[in-house]
Amino acid sequence: MTRSVADRATLQRMDAEVAALLDDARTRADRYRASSSDRPVFPAVEVSARLAGLDGPLPEASEAAGEVIDRLDALGSPATVVTNGPRYFGFVTGGSLPVAAAAGTLAAAWDQNAAVPVMSPTAAALDRTAARWLVELLGLPTTSTATFCSGASVANLIGIVAGRDAVLARRGWDVPGQGLAGAPPITVITSEEAHVSVGKAVALAGLGRDRIVRVAADRQGRLDAGAFAETLAIHDDGPTIVILQAGNVNTGHSDPFSDVIEPARAAGAWVHVDGAFGLWAAAAPERSDQVAGVGEADSWATDAHKWLNVPYDCAIAIVRDGADLARSMRADAAYLPVDEGSRVPMHLGLQMSQRARAIEVWAVIASLGRSGIADLIERSCTLAARFAERLNAAGAEVLHDVVLNQVLVSFGTDDMTDAVIEAVQADGTCWVGGTSWHGHRAMRLSVSGWQTTEADVDASADAIVTCWSACGEQGRPTPP
Ligand SMILES: *Cc1c(COP(=O)(O)O)cnc(C)c1O
Repeated sequence: MTRSVADRATLQRMDAEVAALLDDARTRADRYRASSSDRPVFPAVEVSARLAGLDGPLPEASEAAGEVIDRLDALGSPATVVTNGPRYFGFVTGGSLPVAAAAGTLAAAWDQNAAVPVMSPTAAALDRTAARWLVELLGLPTTSTATFCSGASVANLIGIVAGRDAVLARRGWDVPGQGLAGAPPITVITSEEAHVSVGKAVALAGLGRDRIVRVAADRQGRLDAGAFAETLAIHDDGPTIVILQAGNVNTGHSDPFSDVIEPARAAGAWVHVDGAFGLWAAAAPERSDQVAGVGEADSWATDAHKWLNVPYDCAIAIVRDGADLARSMRADAAYLPVDEGSRVPMHLGLQMSQRARAIEVWAVIASLGRSGIADLIERSCTLAARFAERLNAAGAEVLHDVVLNQVLVSFGTDDMTDAVIEAVQADGTCWVGGTSWHGHRAMRLSVSGWQTTEADVDASADAIVTCWSACGEQGRPTPP
């Protein structure tokens, strides 16, 4: 192809503009990252109020890209929460490792669609390799099939839908073809401590949130194996899905897999495990006892954007037998290549077009290796224990055995606990959330980010204790 001299000059000018735009974004991103440990973890109200500058009527005319980015940075950056920093302990939130952020920068330039291998050899190769590495890292059966998706909520849905279709296929019922009307009813059994996304996935799968059979859990948040055995005995004649948990979102404890998976599968049930963050205990030799026996299940859900510290959004659904995934997810069309024998991401999940989510996962595993990932997990757990010890030493009550990266703390009364949480959130040294646990309010801490150090935990624990003392003198701060 030949171009006129004028065309070439125009293209060179456009290339220069694009380079300047991306360089500018890169400089802004660097500045943002460099400031992350000095800024208050949560933005002040007046800073967030300036976000109104990003609103307005639908723009009719165009605006220069550089000006758009300038406005985005000037108003947007200061009103972000420094979740990608060392002292954010809210929810279960991982940061983004530098190698993941760098891979993500390349991925943005590539802009690959991972739906089918013919759309991107690179995306297909990374998808294949990262999926295999993940299964091995998590100690799951090596013949399992892993598939990338947007979050553990979706990964739970994928596992539950695959299970639904499998348990009914065994009874000669084709759910993908015939739907659920007239099908034998499925019993879903889970713990009273199951994550909210499990109920949502069961509802979306057409199995009815209100029909779930809930089994009691103990004081640590683990399914009661005895109560489970009794429940299973009542429901062992019809198609059944059992949903277990690796990593209670409050306490970090996991269900007793070794006691419950084998009998459930022997009774013909499909066993799915929600292991959004807790499944990563399997990747750290000193924590893997927390999830002993988890590999005996039929399907698993886990997040990469939490504890693996890749950018949002990225999770993985894993199914023991790939045929069970294909039964539910396969969708053929004349214009799609028939790719028998190779992985086709769109036949393994909900999405057709999809970001090549394997890219950052591949980069993190390639960079840290098995030992580096074990260290990331173990370090978070050790820091969580340190947090608990320091707060306990200051007189606060830790409400469970700290076995993973989650810590629940009470400061006496519910009102006082809420007041301390509110004061800590306003203080800005760190950010912690609140929850209720066995009838009491609790501060909830999660150590999931790669950047947190002992010094960050100590400074945060000190700030929490200082806020508590201030509440103690003044009583509950008056609401605004
Ligand atoms: C976070 C979490 C989920 C939901 O994961 P998303 O990635 O937010 O969709 C499900 N289960 C547990 C136990 C979790 O911690």
